[in-house]
Amino acid sequence: MEYPDESRQFEQLERRAQDLRARVAAAALRGGRAESDVRIMAVTKTISAHLIRDAYALGFRLFGENRVQEAQSKISQVEMPGAVWELIGHLQTNKAARAVQLFSRVQSVDSVHLAETLNRQALAQNRVLPVLLEVNVAREKSKTGFSPADLTGAATEIARFPHLRPEGLMTVAPLVSDPEDVRPIFRELRALLRTLREHVPLASGAEWKELSMGMTDDFEVAIEEGSTLIRVGRGLFGARPPAHASSSAV
Ligand SMILES: *Cc1c(COP(=O)(O)O)cnc(C)c1O
Repeated sequence: MEYPDESRQFEQLERRAQDLRARVAAAALRGGRAESDVRIMAVTKTISAHLIRDAYALGFRLFGENRVQEAQSKISQVEMPGAVWELIGHLQTNKAARAVQLFSRVQSVDSVHLAETLNRQALAQNRVLPVLLEVNVAREKSKTGFSPADLTGAATEIARFPHLRPEGLMTVAPLVSDPEDVRPIFRELRALLRTLREHVPLASGAEWKELSMGMTDDFEVAIEEGSTLIRVGRGLFGARPPAHASSSAV
């Protein structure tokens, strides 16, 4: 049975998806890149299973979640063949086993200790886990991620874990009102990837290639600067409901 509200929701999503894809294509063109070189991840935190299935129906296959617990109930609910789920939020080591079970890739590796734990869990589950290293390019106190100065050393250690496959870098740019202000952040992440490519060899078959950068407010600039994967929540699903009454300011 179809309710008028639900079909309206679907139409809104469809319009936003079309608009998003058109903007991605235009930004790729400006950056002198192929549209197919930029993948769109649908970020589903706080989004209902119903709306996630709608995004799947519109052709989205790559999904990102911030929290292990939220992802667990959601992934089992939606059952979408061919969908790929990746973790993009900070991971506590005590949830590493669950994360290795649930996710195709972890984008938010932010310490060597976490990498070591994931490697051990991947070994126990008899798999090789693709990972990205998260970089706190602007060195914001409130954010996790390697500082640029520590990155090469950490990457060298992480590249030795046989059950991890490093594939690239991820960053969350600072919140600004003009996306032009974060262009240098994206440029720096790309330069860091180049440095890793030169100085941190990977096992055969693996390559430093992914640049996961760009969100709803800054994805066009990120694409112009070489992003290979943008992570879009609000730009696709609309405004998120406030996370928690208790976390709002009083
Ligand atoms: C929420 C989130 C996104 C998507 O944010 P929007 O601004 O809604 O596009 C992307 N990356 C991470 C790590 C996030 O937590």
